[in-house]
Amino acid sequence: MTNKYMYFIANWKMFGSLNSLKSLDKVIKFFKNFKKNTSNKIIYCPPSTLINPMFKKLKKTPIQVGAQNCHENQNYGAFTGSINTTMLKNAGAKYVIIGHSENRQDGETDKLINLKIKSALKAKLKVIFCIGETLIEKRNKKTNSIISKQIKAGLKNIKKKSNIFIAYEPVWAIGTGIVPKSDDLLKTIKFIKSKFKGKLPKVLYGGSVDPKNINNLKKINNIDGFLIGGASQSSKKFIDIVKKT
Ligand code: PEP
Repeated sequence: MTNKYMYFIANWKMFGSLNSLKSLDKVIKFFKNFKKNTSNKIIYCPPSTLINPMFKKLKKTPIQVGAQNCHENQNYGAFTGSINTTMLKNAGAKYVIIGHSENRQDGETDKLINLKIKSALKAKLKVIFCIGETLIEKRNKKTNSIISKQIKAGLKNIKKKSNIFIAYEPVWAIGTGIVPKSDDLLKTIKFIKSKFKGKLPKVLYGGSVDPKNINNLKKINNIDGFLIGGASQSSKKFIDIVKKT
């Protein structure tokens, strides 16, 4: 890997309890002793209920905390059950995942994603903007047109993009154990970067990353890091992935 910083973002999805924070002890210890940790950035995105306890636990470590979603409105208001970006920031989050395919599948539109990204940037959160095609779209050779559309609509009227990370997550690779062929992934990441002018964004890959396939994935030299779902719930697997990269 030739990148200066590699990003490892743990997406705990709707898993975890106060008790599971104990599992981070291993991760904290590992990063304390791991000399190379200066070239890695680690971000944990737990469910909202764990953001603040996790933030407190990780405060004196280089590991940062992020959220998995947000409401589009940065202000307070009558939106029962929602959490805005100001609240996330206040709880200790530095990042927020937006546009995850599990939320897109639940009806989250490109337009809503665009509003959420704007809100997150205003709140000074860094955004992990997820894009990716479905299996049918891939079979119909629509990968590039889908991700172009998602980037264009998601980042509409956003001039300053320095706090935006792109996470390329093909929907068919999430939680399936299947990862794209190295050549395809290299081309798609290159294509994503070609959509930006000036300073290129960091582009991460996500979808079934685990300690077994990381040896191949790490060879794809235009990837700036990984968004890791299932495997991040095990500290051992997560550490293994970082160690091998
Ligand atoms: C994800 O949820 O963003 C993800 C990549 O999940 P998994 O690693 O389990 O495929």
